[in-house]
Amino acid sequence: MTSHLVTNIGELVTWDADRPILHDAALVVEGGRVSWFGHRVDAPAADSSNDVGGAAVIPGFVDSHTHLVFAGDRSAEFEARMTGEPYAAGGIRTTVAATRAAPDEQLRANVARHLAEMRAQGTTTAEIKSGYGLTVLDEARSLAIAQEFTEETTFLGAHVVPDLSTGSRGDVAAYVDLVTGAMLEKCAPYARWIDVFCEDGAFGADEARTVLEAGIAAGLLPRIHANQLGHGPGVQLAVEVGAAAADHCTYLSDADVDALAGSGTVAGLLPGVEFSTRQPYPDARRLIDAGVTVSLATDCNPGSSYTSSMPFCVAVAVRDMGMSPREALWSATKGGALSLRRDDVGHLAVGATADYAVLNAPSFVHLAYRPGVPLVAAVS
Ligand SMILES: [Zn+2]
Repeated sequence: MTSHLVTNIGELVTWDADRPILHDAALVVEGGRVSWFGHRVDAPAADSSNDVGGAAVIPGFVDSHTHLVFAGDRSAEFEARMTGEPYAAGGIRTTVAATRAAPDEQLRANVARHLAEMRAQGTTTAEIKSGYGLTVLDEARSLAIAQEFTEETTFLGAHVVPDLSTGSRGDVAAYVDLVTGAMLEKCAPYARWIDVFCEDGAFGADEARTVLEAGIAAGLLPRIHANQLGHGPGVQLAVEVGAAAADHCTYLSDADVDALAGSGTVAGLLPGVEFSTRQPYPDARRLIDAGVTVSLATDCNPGSSYTSSMPFCVAVAVRDMGMSPREALWSATKGGALSLRRDDVGHLAVGATADYAVLNAPSFVHLAYRPGVPLVAAVS
């Protein structure tokens, strides 16, 4: 097995328990995994090497929440919102119509284009959800396409209730029957995760529980969109079913925070959403101080958060959510990995997958200190 030495690393972030951050460091990669790291002068001989000139090296970002299988553009809706119209969950239906009309090749090209954008900004692992098909066939093809790009695929047939003309709860019940029946059966082979949008205008607690329990029974792992637009039952439900993640967590009661703190559920914060919908940011400080595990992700989607940039999310989290630069980077890497129940990515300790980004900067702090600047020089 050939070995490769990355040397002259000004600041190396590993998240190793004993040496989480080193200076004047080096890293050895063998067979795609980190086989050694430490101080540069102690580095073992390797078959090849490169000198990064004092740059910072960080684990590749783990974007644990994206909706990349879509077609269409909602810039007009964004423009209207920025001139005073509120965000409502129903805008999702615009993207559903465009996605259903798009051929597979177009959806596949859109996913590839957005993943390339992400990678250029340091993201090496991305979760991808369905949720803009909302028919058996359109959800299944969305997941089949997502699975061509990532093993972290999530069935989100319960995103909104499609074609809801009357607004009656009967229609919701019929759609939940479809999601938990024929749609789940067709989609489960392409998915690792089951997700539901638990929110007013989407699915209530009992409906969301039905969706998650059906997914669990089909072998999928639960995660949930919770407490985005207001207080609600989503976070408590996430903890109740043992979900890996409760994502959004913008409006939390003290009981919600306590429940998360005593659980294995990661609170996924998605600051691109609050930025793009001009809503209050989630309070990361409150969660961290309570002992909750926090992840950061883009929620990249064409309606409420059309950013693919984890560095942008880190900068906003530091500026407006009470996170230190170190906490924000941890949440965007190791926190994302925990949200996906992965121990092989999001860190660079010995044995980890050698997914890393070299920054055009001497320290990871520059990710927040220099917002909007393309600091990722190379991704491996
Ligand atoms: Zn989402």
